[in-house]
Amino acid sequence: MSSPPPDLDLIVREIAAEMRLRTDRGEAAKYIPELAGVDVNQFGLAVIDREGVVHKGGDADVPFSIQSISKVFTLTLALGLVGDRLWKRVGREPSGDPFNSIVQLEHERGIPRNPFINAGAIAVTDALLSGHQPKETLGEILRFLHFVAEDPSIRMDEAVAASEKRTGFRNFALANYMKSFGVLENPVELALGVYFHHCSIAMSCIQLAMAGRYLAYGGRNPTTGLSVISAERARRINALMLTCGHYDGSGEFAYRVGLPGKSGVGGGILAVAPGRASIAVWAPGLDRWGNSHLGRIALEHLAKRTGWSIFG
Ligand code: GLN
Repeated sequence: MSSPPPDLDLIVREIAAEMRLRTDRGEAAKYIPELAGVDVNQFGLAVIDREGVVHKGGDADVPFSIQSISKVFTLTLALGLVGDRLWKRVGREPSGDPFNSIVQLEHERGIPRNPFINAGAIAVTDALLSGHQPKETLGEILRFLHFVAEDPSIRMDEAVAASEKRTGFRNFALANYMKSFGVLENPVELALGVYFHHCSIAMSCIQLAMAGRYLAYGGRNPTTGLSVISAERARRINALMLTCGHYDGSGEFAYRVGLPGKSGVGGGILAVAPGRASIAVWAPGLDRWGNSHLGRIALEHLAKRTGWSIFG
């Protein structure tokens, strides 16, 4: 006999209430001044099920800086544009190093380990930029988000992008280093300009969970049936999210949550329960890997109560 479906409304509301009470909140990202002042007492959770029903708790409709979660969408677009040729300039292995680390680049001749560490995401952005003006590329990224989230109000936050540009010394180092190996085709300032801007996109948990549906449902919008990407590509992006989506905390996330997920230093996580739900959580305080501390804990609770871990 199969067990009854989980009462998602109740579970989401209970998790949001539990997270509100916790005092271990982590710290907001300090190295991007515009994010340093974000109130760590906020918490949002949105779960969109197969029928398209939105289950939400806490600050699920407050927009936040999606930061590295944008790398999932730029990877989707770059694979659509250049296909498997993308893998000539970025790998598919977990790095075991922090998101902004430079150490592997020298040994591996400027080829970043995977598309989700900063170096890899900058290389992916560079692939999207080739043959276009930065504005066109950014327009394309936003249009894609408007389409998958079914929400044309999603915007970039210029103040966050400018703030990151002012203090983005590591990203400039990574990009210059890759450029010296010929891995970037475009001028470093242009590739980074696009990168900082797509990281600055602001979305709420609801908008993010809406946007992630194509990954949860075999490349399709489950409500309209419209195909966004092939099922095979969705499966592969999910595999990369599972193995690389939380940097050197990816093993811990897989162990505790058991779902493909992508974090950002704004405190958001997009997680995918294949065939069951698209999930977004936001709690701005980070753990030592730069991933949302309470976001991960909330997802651990959710996976436990729903039985959604992909590992059974
Ligand atoms: N924009 C941030 C950076 O480049 C993204 C990092 C992240 O979210 N992990 O440092």
